[in-house]
Amino acid sequence: MDLSTSRRTDMCGELTAADVGRTVSVCGWVDRRREHGEHLAFIDLRDHTGIVQCVVDGSHDLRGEYVARLTGAVRLRPADTANADLATGAVEIEVHEIEILAEAEPPPFPLDERTDVDETIRLRHRYVDLRKERMQRNLRTRAAVNSALRRGMESQGFVEVETPMLIASTPEGARDFVVPSRKEPGSFYALPQSPQLFKQLCMVGGIDRYYQIARCLRDEDLRADRQFEFMQLDCEASFVGQEDVFEFVSHAVAEATEAVTGTRPVDFPRITWLDAQERYGSDKPDVRFAMELVELTPVFDATEARVFQAPCVKGIRMEGGVDALSRNQIDGLVDTCKRWGAKGLAWMKVVDGDGGPALDAGVAKFLSAGESSAVIAALDAVPGDMVFLVADERPVVRHVLGLLRLELGRPPVNEGGLHFLWVVDFPLFEALGDGGRPVPAHHPFTMPHPDDVDLLEQGGDALLEVRSQAYDLVCNGWELGSGSIRIHRPDIQSRIFELLGIGEEEARAKFGFLLDAFRFGAPPHGGFAFGTDRLTALLVGESNIREVIAFPKTQSGADPLTNAPSPIDAAHLEELGLRILPPAT
Ligand code: ASP
Repeated sequence: MDLSTSRRTDMCGELTAADVGRTVSVCGWVDRRREHGEHLAFIDLRDHTGIVQCVVDGSHDLRGEYVARLTGAVRLRPADTANADLATGAVEIEVHEIEILAEAEPPPFPLDERTDVDETIRLRHRYVDLRKERMQRNLRTRAAVNSALRRGMESQGFVEVETPMLIASTPEGARDFVVPSRKEPGSFYALPQSPQLFKQLCMVGGIDRYYQIARCLRDEDLRADRQFEFMQLDCEASFVGQEDVFEFVSHAVAEATEAVTGTRPVDFPRITWLDAQERYGSDKPDVRFAMELVELTPVFDATEARVFQAPCVKGIRMEGGVDALSRNQIDGLVDTCKRWGAKGLAWMKVVDGDGGPALDAGVAKFLSAGESSAVIAALDAVPGDMVFLVADERPVVRHVLGLLRLELGRPPVNEGGLHFLWVVDFPLFEALGDGGRPVPAHHPFTMPHPDDVDLLEQGGDALLEVRSQAYDLVCNGWELGSGSIRIHRPDIQSRIFELLGIGEEEARAKFGFLLDAFRFGAPPHGGFAFGTDRLTALLVGESNIREVIAFPKTQSGADPLTNAPSPIDAAHLEELGLRILPPAT
């Protein structure tokens, strides 16, 4: 692309031997300056395309990070000084005109990729940090992802509709950020946790296929893969079943992946939520490596070993674990598993026994001969392997072994390529809370699985068996996003509200407008949303989404650059009808 302007003819990183003899003007920041004798200086000038070496003969005032326009003739570097590591390494500019466009204080930290700089300092001076090659690559990849997603959705007939930021609460289950109303002191807008209700209204409004790259705000504790505000590719379509939604979303994700990596993922396999839990101990399994959880409950049906007298026993096998783990590390794993909620972690080494592989060390002595050989057979273990067993309630076993599996086997973020996976048949309710009241696993508009609607009537523990038409897209162990087929029938919706303990009055107050809309002809519909920050991070191999966001908040939710959040003045508070209470002691 031609990026020349009235001030520059060329980009720093694009000059090659083919340009030798041309007189060019380049603009950018002084990356490095090296003096060579009394007169000669080598200036590396940098813009977002790269660096070019410029030779200045004579005095000059250029310093690190000064912004300059340098004009001169392109010439070949002497063969012995060519730099094969640099795209422009064969050439240099023999400068005859220097124009300093802006002076600069010394940068607050070095801009090379080798120096590890405290994140708060990076974020305080993000404008300097953004000049780094890594940040330039990440933000430009992000833009490429967004535009590929748009293309991917639009080519399938999806229409971009912008939904409002100042709204009433959305039922995603996190805390809302709120904005006080000046016109109606004491009343508040909520910032959207997602465009959920509006996209459903778009379906009632006949939009048929909606999408938006939407900003969502959730007041939750921050983690490496979570920010207060994040972007989602949000979509909704009418007259669809979940297979249609998988098709739409897989297509858009494939477009974005291909745009960045050059390779189009073709495989988007499915796994049921139950299977994911049983085999990987997670609803977002990282399927890049095996080490699956193996069912051992029947092996210990009549066991004499107290540690294995539990409703559920499962195990995992670490190939070559005997050599890979020290005794100290094993003890550390036992402690970690206890922190994760297990009573303990049973471990054993697989060794060469008289009649084949045998178990040794750890809890091996508590197992009968039959149990030992059954464990070895079930786990397919060979000498040199370590086996780890957890015996407990089934959800605890899955959870702890699922985490242990990641701890022992998980490769770096995008090693081995991207492995997308649809997790289907999520339970409708994730638990029974106070007074046996079910807690929704997704939002309350999620359609139950058609085969399980009868279970809704049974109530009690049967509710936890109810599957929903909700699904997640997972990649390399990250939850990219979720969606569901929605309830468009008022009778089923009232039943769900009733089960969730949302009375008619509350339902009217919170979602009255949606329920009203459904009285005027709602098509069956469903949709999905996934985090574009997360997808971009996976594509560029960053394990922290802050690296792909231009101006993120720190882990504690602060912005060291603008100092947000910050107090507002008394007059402003007065106008909003607000008074600040002294901090609770
Ligand atoms: N609104 C949901 C979310 O943001 C996505 C969906 O159900 O479409 O998680």
